[in-house]
Amino acid sequence: MPMSTRSIIWFRRDLRICDHPALLAAIAESDEIVPVFILDPKLIKTAGSKRLAYLGQSLRLLDESLDNKLHVIAADQIDALKQLQQKYGASNVHISAEYEPYGAKRDEAIEKAGIKLIRTGSPYAVAPGRVLKPSDQTPYRVYTPFYRAWLAHGWRKPAEKPKDIAAVTPSKDERNFPDWRLPDGTVLTPAGELNAIERFKYFQKNGLDNYDEARNLAGIDGTSKMSAHLKWGEIHPRTLLAPLGQSKGHEVYRKEIAWREFYADVLFNNPHTESDYYAPQFAKMRYDPPGDKFKAWCEGKTGYPFVDAAMRQLVSEGWMHNRTRMVVASFLVKDLHLEWQLGERFFREHLVDYDVASNAHGWQWTAGCGTDASPYYRVFNPIEQGKRFDENGDYVRKYVPELAHLNGIEAHEPWEVLDGYIKDYPERIVDHATERLESLARLDEIKASKPLPPTK
Ligand SMILES: Cc1cc2nc3c(=O)[nH]c(=O)nc-3n(C[C@H](O)[C@H](O)[C@H](O)COP(=O)(O)OP(=O)(O)OC[C@H]3O[C@@H](n4cnc5c(N)ncnc54)[C@H](O)[C@@H]3O)c2cc1C
Repeated sequence: MPMSTRSIIWFRRDLRICDHPALLAAIAESDEIVPVFILDPKLIKTAGSKRLAYLGQSLRLLDESLDNKLHVIAADQIDALKQLQQKYGASNVHISAEYEPYGAKRDEAIEKAGIKLIRTGSPYAVAPGRVLKPSDQTPYRVYTPFYRAWLAHGWRKPAEKPKDIAAVTPSKDERNFPDWRLPDGTVLTPAGELNAIERFKYFQKNGLDNYDEARNLAGIDGTSKMSAHLKWGEIHPRTLLAPLGQSKGHEVYRKEIAWREFYADVLFNNPHTESDYYAPQFAKMRYDPPGDKFKAWCEGKTGYPFVDAAMRQLVSEGWMHNRTRMVVASFLVKDLHLEWQLGERFFREHLVDYDVASNAHGWQWTAGCGTDASPYYRVFNPIEQGKRFDENGDYVRKYVPELAHLNGIEAHEPWEVLDGYIKDYPERIVDHATERLESLARLDEIKASKPLPPTK
């Protein structure tokens, strides 16, 4: 009887079975697949407890979709893959291609160790590095022209769901599902491919048509909440792009997906910007040491209600609304005069949707040292932003119990009402108007009214 052929599918940040070209390639090539997830100690060390709890749930749900055939191995990646190759006589290891610095280097090292990786697809609609300026074939540094070229480049339609998945059965010692518990008092969006699909359907029905307006309002459920699902590849961006039409809401949603792709492209072309300045002259700016100001920011005790609500949302849900991500980032850099990397690291620890490119460049964009093409230096006003994007104060009341007794917009300005501080809400740690001017003065010292092109 002929021996059955096997190939390994190594899951990393593609924890799904639908619209998964690498999985299809592995299935097409063999009689049985060997599905595996390897617990990477380096990534585990930097992921906070919320992200780990989410990952643990996602792995269990992927395992269910694979009929309980997922190998979960805690070992060095090269050793684990070589062992599986030997055990199952599987020479090829199928993967979704990786482009961010750590993953790309890891895969190179694995190939150098003699393991054949077959790359099919990536976590993006258009792989980083593909969209280039037609004039000189260099990468884009500004979002809007990138978006036009990305759109013109286009992408494939979603891949078919596999009809049948024949997989080998792992042994008990290859089923090391981690028992990562959610910290007390935290609530996360449910993980897994089926939850991603269900939530996207819900958003299509209830949110997509008004997305252009609703996406900015922090106090309502107006965004898709796809970020954690995209981070872990429980859904592919192609699947999200496929049903979009030409209406305003759909167009703005496509543009947001494109931001994720733009930042991945920028990081691919400038890997040092994961932790270093995109516009290098900003490294010379005068910054303050962290100390108590940073502590107050982390704890959501700055005395600015919109900032504090957002920071508490981050810590309790592992997610923060995009509007408030910008507000708290601007506050850290431009009101507290701290370096963006401090905030970036705090986000990295707490976000379930942490994405190296979107986080580093979301921070740099807001700090003024990134890809923002605006001709002026933005300093978000944390009070006006709150009054505009949480006009009923619902967001503040939800996350800051010390202000829950205040009505409507009063929640944004407890200093304006007599009973504003009766529940021990902290006083403002800095004065925004003064710090805005200080920030502009420090900008003047480095003579950079807007970011200069990056060094490559
Ligand atoms: C300082 C800062 C840090 C950020 N860190 C991250 C991060 O670590 N991981 C992350 O996924 N996003 C990050 N973002 C982007 C954005 O805030 C989140 O993607 C968004 O809030 C996720 O919620 P959603 O899925 O409901 O978004 P939706 O509004 O429904 O958007 C749909 C998808 O588009 C993409 N997207 C939307 N806005 C952006 C954006 N500004 N930049 C890049 N992609 C975007 C995301 O993949 C998102 O899931 C950051 C933004 C800032 C300002």
